[in-house]
Amino acid sequence: MNLSDKYFVIHYAEVGLKGKNRVFFEKKLARNIRLSLQGTDYAEVKRLHDRIIVYVNDNTNIKEIEKRLRRVMGVAHFELVYRTKKEITAIKETALQLAADKTYETLKVETKRTDKTFPMTSPEVSSEVGGYLIQKTGTKADMYDPDLRFWVNISHNDAYIYTDKQRGIGGLPVGVSGKVLVMLSGGIDSPVAAWQMIKRGAKAVFIHFYSYPYTDKASLEKVIELACILSESNYRSEVYLVPFAELQQTIVTETPTPFRVLLYRRMMTRIAQRVAALAEAEALVTGESLAQVASQTLTNLRSIEAIAEIPILRPLIGFDKVEIIAKAEEIGTFDISTQPHQDCCSLFVPKHPATHASVSELDKAEAVLDISALVDATMKGIEKQVVSFSYE
Ligand code: ATP
Ligand code: MG
Repeated sequence: MNLSDKYFVIHYAEVGLKGKNRVFFEKKLARNIRLSLQGTDYAEVKRLHDRIIVYVNDNTNIKEIEKRLRRVMGVAHFELVYRTKKEITAIKETALQLAADKTYETLKVETKRTDKTFPMTSPEVSSEVGGYLIQKTGTKADMYDPDLRFWVNISHNDAYIYTDKQRGIGGLPVGVSGKVLVMLSGGIDSPVAAWQMIKRGAKAVFIHFYSYPYTDKASLEKVIELACILSESNYRSEVYLVPFAELQQTIVTETPTPFRVLLYRRMMTRIAQRVAALAEAEALVTGESLAQVASQTLTNLRSIEAIAEIPILRPLIGFDKVEIIAKAEEIGTFDISTQPHQDCCSLFVPKHPATHASVSELDKAEAVLDISALVDATMKGIEKQVVSFSYE
């Protein structure tokens, strides 16, 4: 019996995908799966009608492929399928070999027949295969809550056998929902915000503002590391690094103290918009969450946003800190985010920041500044880095 004829069947969940949309979606997903499997010895990724197949070789590291497939955005679930001859002995042997590396005490076999000329009925196949497995492995049958299910499909040409379906991450393939520019700070929240957008199919580009030489370079290193982690699902990622110290100095010397942080934010937003235009991103993304800190009251969010010309998306707006932390741990960014760094917005922070600054108050406070000259000057110092994820 040759068991080498096996492959992964990958399912996606979004309903209502039709015609051209579906082809676009599937092509992106197939491309992303290929990117995620780079460096493994899989054989081929192929699109079939409403599913994607990953063919493997005899000695492909199956566990590694499974690990990576679990992280591909847009995969709802997948299973490793063994194809065998349409004969009951071959089916029984394949099921037994499939069972070899599984741990379970109870099992159930479920059979579907497309080929109605097959000499046994579906319940007969299930009971024959189940009986054989029980006899050979010393396990028990459980029709209601088995530890492991075996699925047997008998089609016109062959029989297909597989066990547990594995859950994917869900969401949409990166790239089907356009591009966003994520304001990445090095803290806990913004990487989680980025991840949520990537999961909905948006390609993320990153921007980070730093205050070196007033602060050390820790925030830069952290942001690059965070972007690397996020590029496991975002793939090739661009990071724009903006030297912000001089502009901050100007704000500190020229404007009223309580508005500092909000004026930093407005300037960051203006610069980010310019970079978004360069990078062809259609929206900005921040890690803001309602009322988490003084700059994130509804009034302040509104006053920052008043100068924005493209949408500012805040996927964490309704999340509690504990929920954000749990997510950061799950996606692997928490440990880096919690290493010490000084954010540029924590520089020269007043003792009593304004919690309810109106749009007109900020407009007035800024009136002394030559905004476009300051933005232009800052744009000149921007550097771009490109990062990608490494499985090593
Ligand atoms: P985070 O954990 O993401 O740093 P936070 O709770 O510390 O967020 P703030 O410092 O008020 O909140 O920042 C709010 C948002 O503004 C951040 O989530 C991020 O999107 C953006 N931001 C703040 N500082 C920077 C920075 N230095 N560079 C880029 N974006 C920033
Ligand atoms: Mg922060």
